[in-house]
Amino acid sequence: MSPLSRNEQRRSYPIAQSVEDVRRNLEVVRKRIAAACSRVGRNPAEVRLLPVSKTVPVERIRLAYAAGCRELGENKVQEAQRKAEALADLADLRWSIIGHLQTNKAKTVARFASEFQALDSLRVAEALDQRLQAEGHGLDVLVQVNTSGEASKFGLPPAEVASFVRKLPAFSALRVRGLMTLALLSDDPARVHRCFALMRDLRVRLRQEAPGGFGMEDLSMGMSGDFELAIEEGATIVRIGQAIFGSRPTPDTDYWPNQDRASTSTSSEHTP
Ligand SMILES: *Cc1c(COP(=O)(O)O)cnc(C)c1O
Repeated sequence: MSPLSRNEQRRSYPIAQSVEDVRRNLEVVRKRIAAACSRVGRNPAEVRLLPVSKTVPVERIRLAYAAGCRELGENKVQEAQRKAEALADLADLRWSIIGHLQTNKAKTVARFASEFQALDSLRVAEALDQRLQAEGHGLDVLVQVNTSGEASKFGLPPAEVASFVRKLPAFSALRVRGLMTLALLSDDPARVHRCFALMRDLRVRLRQEAPGGFGMEDLSMGMSGDFELAIEEGATIVRIGQAIFGSRPTPDTDYWPNQDRASTSTSSEHTP
């Protein structure tokens, strides 16, 4: 089995129970990031590690804070909001929403998040912009791209990204930073690789179309099971949960409820 297999890796992450555990896990992940960078001649300073704390209770998030984490990714807005409130005493902790957003939750995101990585509709862009204008501040956003070709997964089809991005300057509170994707959940590295390579090519094309235009610096791609491959294809943000906090008790289908049959059957194998 490939070392990139998410299924394999998912089973092997012990729950981080102490500050030391989190610190050690962060160190291991950073070393792996550095190794992946060196394989392709990149500078590890170009890769931002975003720890993902979904399903992790606030007591264990405090361990991560003590271990040095100052930003966290959460997939669901309500869970993120609840945690942000419970951890409001940690004033310099920043929250990044990395999951699909409904327009009626835009208000909440505008209030407490510092980044939104899953923009894929003009309605959400408009709702966010309105709330942000009212709040008097901006928000970093990434456009989510569906690179896996799974019909029901969130994100724009690659062919629609350029025209979508061209419309975003109308929403002046949104600072467009780049693109985000979830690769295919597969044990076949070649298929995962194809998703990441597609993102790399897409960014090149967007930059050519509008040199110096929209800020297309960031590629957010790669999770615990596939971040090295993503870095080799140019990821500037990796979103990593289980390799830092330990295996999740819940299957990913709780977060990507609309995945197609292929992915769902893969996910069921994850359940311990
Ligand atoms: C959960 C999640 C991750 C992190 O996955 P791990 O397997 O815990 O590393 C990354 N991106 C998104 C959108 C997620 O929901």
